[in-house]
Amino acid sequence: MERTLIILKPDAVQRGLMGKILTRFEEKGLKVVGARFAKLSEDLLAQHYQDHKERPFYKGLVRFMSESPVLVMALEGVGAISVCRKMLGATFGRDAEPGTIRGDFGISRSYNLVHGSDSPEAAQREIGLFFDAEEIVEWHPAGHTWVYDAEDLG
Ligand code: UDP
Ligand code: MG
Repeated sequence: MERTLIILKPDAVQRGLMGKILTRFEEKGLKVVGARFAKLSEDLLAQHYQDHKERPFYKGLVRFMSESPVLVMALEGVGAISVCRKMLGATFGRDAEPGTIRGDFGISRSYNLVHGSDSPEAAQREIGLFFDAEEIVEWHPAGHTWVYDAEDLG
């Protein structure tokens, strides 16, 4: 099992798409193990997007992400990091394939609805940035014996 950090960005929240997007992750078999609805500070976003500091879009990105609340989630599942990245689709909505979240709901470059960790290292760092250890909840969805292979559930 793997964990990844997903953020439903301000545009997803403002457009009333939180439920629809979360449903996709739930229906896929990903389990929410942490959740936090908050308006993020520019300081926290600077840490989150530290690798993008020198990019031309950085300032606009931090402004957009801090302007309005977001839903931050830690999701758990087999191969969760790459599974979620595939579900997100390409970075820009206009390039993202239909069937992906960005492909179905977005057409913009910056307003692309959702963030997902892009590697195990990033996932660990990002989950640690947004959640204290005790805010991650271990639980067992009743239906997962019909969703996961027995060996995946351990
Ligand atoms: N972004 C942007 N303009 C760009 C590239 C990226 O506004 O030219 C924003 C966009 O919101 C994206 C975020 O910066 O999700 C982080 O960029 P990254 O390349 O890491 O894309 P992602 O991993 O989110 O697909
Ligand atoms: Mg990225």
